[in-house]
Amino acid sequence: MAVLIDGKKISTEIKEELKEQVKKYKEQGKEITLAVIQVGNDPASSVYVRNKKKACEYIGINSLAYELEESTTEEELLKLIGELNGRDDVNGILVQLPLPAHINEDKIIETIDSKKDVDGFHPMSVGALSIGRKGFVSCTPAGIIQLLKRSNIDIAGKECVVVGRSNIVGKPMAMLLLRENGTVTIAHSKTKNLKEVTKRADILVAAVGKPKFITADYVKEGAVVIDVGIHRNEDNKLCGDVDFDSVVDKVSAITPVPGGVGPMTIAMLMYNCVNSVM
Ligand code: NDP
Repeated sequence: MAVLIDGKKISTEIKEELKEQVKKYKEQGKEITLAVIQVGNDPASSVYVRNKKKACEYIGINSLAYELEESTTEEELLKLIGELNGRDDVNGILVQLPLPAHINEDKIIETIDSKKDVDGFHPMSVGALSIGRKGFVSCTPAGIIQLLKRSNIDIAGKECVVVGRSNIVGKPMAMLLLRENGTVTIAHSKTKNLKEVTKRADILVAAVGKPKFITADYVKEGAVVIDVGIHRNEDNKLCGDVDFDSVVDKVSAITPVPGGVGPMTIAMLMYNCVNSVM
């Protein structure tokens, strides 16, 4: 039976450490403030925004909430970001994605001051990661590195395969594994013989966006499997990109869904906010 990598426990550890750090900052008279902007009222986005605010409260970070109408124009949103960029008391700016179709997401992301880009999506942050400079790192992949490190799983020298090449998960994940000296392969929808590629992995990260896609015949005996996916199955229960039941007896460690990667994303957002004042 595989070891279950407990994202709930590890994310709680991180949040406790951050809470202490924020307490120390407050003793030095430093406050941390995150501005969270939501446009429209997509139910999933509302849940994420609420959870982010709750995490801020728990850690001792101030949060400014901007709940804007669906009809908000791109100009209005750009103007608000411009104002927040200019405010010394705002350390982080987060625009909840996806945005309504009439707003250009790339333009919005690029307008956020890269020094306040706590989501790590700005081209400056992405560039910094790829050339090994300091900068904000996309929260989900940063959380996965923490899951591995805090579970004492070595990355250096390991064959790492990331299935998925999105800008927010797959690509930054690959860069981070490379930074930790893994030997990294990125697979995607055009990859030939995917099973042969994934079976090479000592560490397999599934960020495919397809429920239960990775079955036992995609994994090597004893591999570490990280499941980034979040879906609702036919019984309305949460499941991941990995077919957990078929894989669990074959691997050495695996993240469950829920309770694996999911809780790490917000913990790392809080990490980015706290570190934005340094
Ligand atoms: P995207 O849909 O943006 O990317 C999916 C990637 O998977 C693409 O690169 C695509 O390849 C690749 N892919 C799709 N089908 C196949 C296939 N048959 N074989 C190989 N590769 C394939 O998703 P995200 O990266 O945004 O998210 C991935 C998953 O993670 C989703 O389930 C999402 O819900 C979840 N997620 C979870 C988070 C968390 O906090 N736990 C945070 C963010 C995402 P191509 O580029 O060629 O199209």
